[in-house]
Amino acid sequence: MNARGPLLAGVELGGTKCIAALARDGVILQSERWPTGDDAQATLSRINDWLDSAPCPEPIASIGIASFGPLCLDPASSDYGRIVNTPKPGWAGVDVLGILAGGRNIPAGFDTDVAGAALAEGRWGASIGCSVHIYLTIGTGIGGGVVVDGKPLHGLLHPEIGHIRIRRLASDSFPGTCPFHGDCLEGLASGPAIAARAGLRAEALADTDPVWQNVADDLAELMAMLILTLSPQRIVIGGGVAQGHSALLSRVHKATADRLAGYLAGLDARALEAIIVLPTLGDKAGILGAIALADSAFSR
Ligand code: ADP
Ligand code: ZN
Repeated sequence: MNARGPLLAGVELGGTKCIAALARDGVILQSERWPTGDDAQATLSRINDWLDSAPCPEPIASIGIASFGPLCLDPASSDYGRIVNTPKPGWAGVDVLGILAGGRNIPAGFDTDVAGAALAEGRWGASIGCSVHIYLTIGTGIGGGVVVDGKPLHGLLHPEIGHIRIRRLASDSFPGTCPFHGDCLEGLASGPAIAARAGLRAEALADTDPVWQNVADDLAELMAMLILTLSPQRIVIGGGVAQGHSALLSRVHKATADRLAGYLAGLDARALEAIIVLPTLGDKAGILGAIALADSAFSR
């Protein structure tokens, strides 16, 4: 008989939807979803009720929470487990870790949604075997999680890769949509930025629309920066824009190779195809991220 892993619970808190799941060995056994309402306590209570009443074959061994941020991830801080200054109404300062895991008396993992997705891709997906790898989402916002030797990179806070400022095309004068920075990368290349540039939603834009090249050039700036600073073996690009418009990826490979300009031997557009990839876990990367956090907490 095969040894079975522990029964793990995961909660993914997204800007628009929340998902809870029970899983074993990276396989989701049951899941449920809810809209992320402005009443954080009510939303989290619904999730707790589901976790408490889901028919489990055995007690849950560990729980992982992967949330939109910014988050306080410093266990020494009194704010550990809270969402910090999010502009999302009703959620700033909410103690999501305490509310979802506090009363359970089981190990709990807590990290950003993108760090979770990075861990999940590292454990079960596109980044297996990579010691340094990154998961980026290009969706309503742009964010990224960095994993080094199986652990998400923290520090002062956690990476907020989407808000870097990049060298823009000289021909591009779009002011950007980020409420903090205007033309940071998120302000230039997220779904809402693409919609503002083009005057229609990203999913309605033709492959041939010139906005896509602009977006690819902007994303390539980030790719080159990540490759030069962190030297990742894999950069997985998920999110509604990247997964919905997969033709973007080959433009990003070419534009990244242009920026690296032959400096890193062998890293041409062809070689970058094996490094910059779509998620293997597809739209399950988020919830499996929460499960991966539960798995890490259980193993600690
Ligand atoms: P979130 O970031 O809120 O978790 P998603 O990752 O699904 O959500 O990203 C939503 C964004 O993806 C929206 O801006 C939407 O316009 C864009 N999007 C959805 N489908 C496509 C598509 N087929 N092509 C390009 N963009 C898309
Ligand atoms: Zn910004």
